[in-house]
Amino acid sequence: MSGVQYLRPTSLAEVQACLQQHPQAQLLAGGQSLLAAMRLGLTQPSHLVDLQDVPELQDIRVTDDGVWIGAMATHARIAAHPEIQQHHPMLAKLAHGIADQQVRNVGTLGGSLANNDPAACWPAGVLAYGATLFTTQREIPADEFFTDLFTTALKPDEVLLGVLWPACACAQYVKYEQPASRFAMVGVAVTRATGHDHSAVRVAITGLGNGVTRWPEAEAALQAHWSVQALNGVHLSAELAHTDVHASASYRAHLSAVLCRRAVAAHTGEEAHLPRHAPPSTPRAPASRVRKDRAHSATQPTNNPTAISGSHHLGQTVAVVWDAVLDPVVLQQCIPGCESMQRLSDTQYTAVVKVGLGPVSARFETQIRVMPVCTPSQGEPAVCHLHLSGQAGSLGQGEAEVVVQLRAHATGTSPAAQGTHLQWQATPQMSGQLAQLGNRLMQASARSLSTQFFERLARVLSGQDASPPKRGFFSAIAELFRHWHPLIFRK
Ligand SMILES: Cc1cc2nc3c(=O)[nH]c(=O)nc-3n(C[C@H](O)[C@H](O)[C@H](O)COP(=O)(O)OP(=O)(O)OC[C@H]3O[C@@H](n4cnc5c(N)ncnc54)[C@H](O)[C@@H]3O)c2cc1C
Repeated sequence: MSGVQYLRPTSLAEVQACLQQHPQAQLLAGGQSLLAAMRLGLTQPSHLVDLQDVPELQDIRVTDDGVWIGAMATHARIAAHPEIQQHHPMLAKLAHGIADQQVRNVGTLGGSLANNDPAACWPAGVLAYGATLFTTQREIPADEFFTDLFTTALKPDEVLLGVLWPACACAQYVKYEQPASRFAMVGVAVTRATGHDHSAVRVAITGLGNGVTRWPEAEAALQAHWSVQALNGVHLSAELAHTDVHASASYRAHLSAVLCRRAVAAHTGEEAHLPRHAPPSTPRAPASRVRKDRAHSATQPTNNPTAISGSHHLGQTVAVVWDAVLDPVVLQQCIPGCESMQRLSDTQYTAVVKVGLGPVSARFETQIRVMPVCTPSQGEPAVCHLHLSGQAGSLGQGEAEVVVQLRAHATGTSPAAQGTHLQWQATPQMSGQLAQLGNRLMQASARSLSTQFFERLARVLSGQDASPPKRGFFSAIAELFRHWHPLIFRK
């Protein structure tokens, strides 16, 4: 962290002046996320602008219409505030459930929201309340604030002042915590509005996928009838969830449904149990079948719990998609942040990718080896293996094996109805300090980047994006490396 200047303004005007004067400066709240990211070399601000002496960010005010909580209010202050405990018990409970006392004493509401960790608790509270976030430049409704993984609508020179929470008739937050960090494996916040909008219900889930999200089907069911029973038959697709070493996507989706029922039951007094005949989650194959499948798994995704996977439907034939996947020019267009890609041989490339996600800001270099296993002319599924590897300077090494499968998926008999089901699975491995970044962070970002890649691939293949190539294929998958492979070149 050498060379970072520490600034300690005593007013909002001074904070803004610091940000104007030093465009590479970063705001420092309690440092619970920012200092950890700096220690790992993921971000290198020129200046730290400490907000702790700025009085405009400290206020907590409870009124009949709701509560204002300043951005620099710590979790501990919010949890212990008598009026919040009385009028907004959910907010006090949510704050009290964050991490341990040491983290709560310094971690702040504003830092948590600006950081937008995909498993953080406050984003779920803010989204379920339909709260308004006030900044030095504007008011931002909660629905527009959380834009992506570790990313918000905040601009670099924008300071979050605080949050205005409306009064609610009912509000409940229930989380199932990951025991080591106490972050939410999944957390569900449910609110029911007061006044003429009494039936308006909002359900927000954290820890599920790439960031906090609302659950419209549950909201509609609860709006029609405010009861646990109303949730019978309302299911959350596991496609919205991610899998990591802690939990599978289907488990996360199931947990969301269970926690939502518990949150409603806390108000209605009903039993929260799922109905006896709830549809089972993905059926498990018998053990003998699994063993047999593994014997034939050279072309199959594995059951490795650290694997990240996804699937996409593309509107082109397998042959067309196959050619695109192996074409570095097309692929370079699709990799988010890929600045250049060089061909070393027919099967080997290097790519330089500029990374800018949440606390990470870096350029990194990836070596990519492509190994076609079964071409479309050889049969189905067409399968390609990729090996990605990189050295992250003193941070350690990262590598990943990626399997991409393509199957024909026709929706009709006409040529226009021919499509491809693309399935991919990546098994990343990290060593050195990179391993400390943990699967939660790495896998969530990898999923986000991979999704971006395949969305771009679909656009390019359908002719919607004819822009000249700026990026490369493997980035989507290579961006799996964002967190374990950063900082070969810095900005
Ligand atoms: C061990 C551990 C366990 C945790 N468990 C949980 C948990 O269970 N649930 C949960 O929700 N959180 C949890 N957290 C997160 C923690 O509570 C903090 O809220 C979070 O790390 C942000 O820290 P901070 O407030 O110190 O902000 P910092 O780390 O100082 O800043 C974080 C980011 O926000 C920016 N920022 C800060 N303030 C502002 C502002 N006013 N305007 C604009 N940008 C700003 C900074 O520039 C930085 O990019 C945990 C953290 C740790 C270390």
